[in-house]
Amino acid sequence: MTFKAMRVDQAEGGQTVALVDFDEAELMEGDVTVRVSHSTVNYKDGLALTGKAPVVRRWPMIPGIDFAGVVERSSHPGWTAGDKVVLNGWGLGETHLGGYAEKARVKGDWLVRLPEGMGPAEAMAIGTAGFTAMLSVMALERHGLTPDRGQAIVTGAAGGVGSVAVALLAKLGWQVVAATGRPAEADYLKELGASEVIDRAELAVRPRPLAKERWAAGVDSVGSAPLANLLSMIRYGGAVAACGLAAGMDLPASVAPFILRSVSLLGIDSVMCPPPRRREAWARLAADLDRAKLKAMTRTVALAEVEAVGRAILQGQVRGRVVVEIG
Ligand code: NDP
Repeated sequence: MTFKAMRVDQAEGGQTVALVDFDEAELMEGDVTVRVSHSTVNYKDGLALTGKAPVVRRWPMIPGIDFAGVVERSSHPGWTAGDKVVLNGWGLGETHLGGYAEKARVKGDWLVRLPEGMGPAEAMAIGTAGFTAMLSVMALERHGLTPDRGQAIVTGAAGGVGSVAVALLAKLGWQVVAATGRPAEADYLKELGASEVIDRAELAVRPRPLAKERWAAGVDSVGSAPLANLLSMIRYGGAVAACGLAAGMDLPASVAPFILRSVSLLGIDSVMCPPPRRREAWARLAADLDRAKLKAMTRTVALAEVEAVGRAILQGQVRGRVVVEIG
């Protein structure tokens, strides 16, 4: 028995990527087999597909760090055939065969039930990027931040995490400032709910320990100098949820915002996020993300196109979210 899958193999001086017929017997261990209908292209998928960073830890690999589908077979007590499920993280597409395939075999403990009223294509329009945006917003809320404290800034705003963060924060009543390097996307960002769009170049300057206080909260998917600048500009008692590294992994900041303004830096990881918080985040996404806006930020591609989209996302050329239609 075989199924269609995107397969990455190690090759001399690099790697090969090809759409192949994958043997079901080669699937890895797991107590649930899922018929995958949709996946997505996230930044990390771009890294895996191009080999630009060591995301893939096992060969051969089926990339794809998330999927939605229907349970085909299960020996896990929580799942039966026909259940609609979503999976993101837990090493999918890194250490465990991933979502760019018609089938996946995984641990039942990794799965989350698709929220009532949310289809698999919508779940993947959200995907790991949207899930991470939700985790970021939840972290700001746990910190006690509310829209009456001031504006929220979102960096990498026209990207996947950024687009969902803008839409979520706007729906929750925040005045959202969107920082982007693509001024042509200003109307798009305003349609998602941004009240102001700024040039990301403003945040690429050499960071000072402290600058004028501007925003109460931030969602940052880019890291490096922009994150350091954000910290220096956050208002007293505010916080930034840091979830990405699109501008770089470094952080050329000082402790000044922490010790002089009680600013907090909140770390966000989606991969090992514990199950209760996962369920909470998916439930919040079902309730708090405007579906029309989600549709407006999403385009759909075929499995054969993921490699090209993976290259484009690393160059900052993908707007919003990309769903991969599989079966
Ligand atoms: P996207 O490529 O869709 O978004 C990234 C955006 O960052 C781009 O669209 C661009 O936005 C901006 N950007 C790109 N390069 C630069 C640069 N040199 N300087 C400043 N801004 C830049 O990727 P995703 O939304 O899928 O992921 C965003 C980041 O979040 C990635 O680093 C990813 O690894 C990380 N991530 C982390 C997760 C976690 O668990 N912590 C989970 C998911 C994602 P614009 O054009 O608007 O300026």
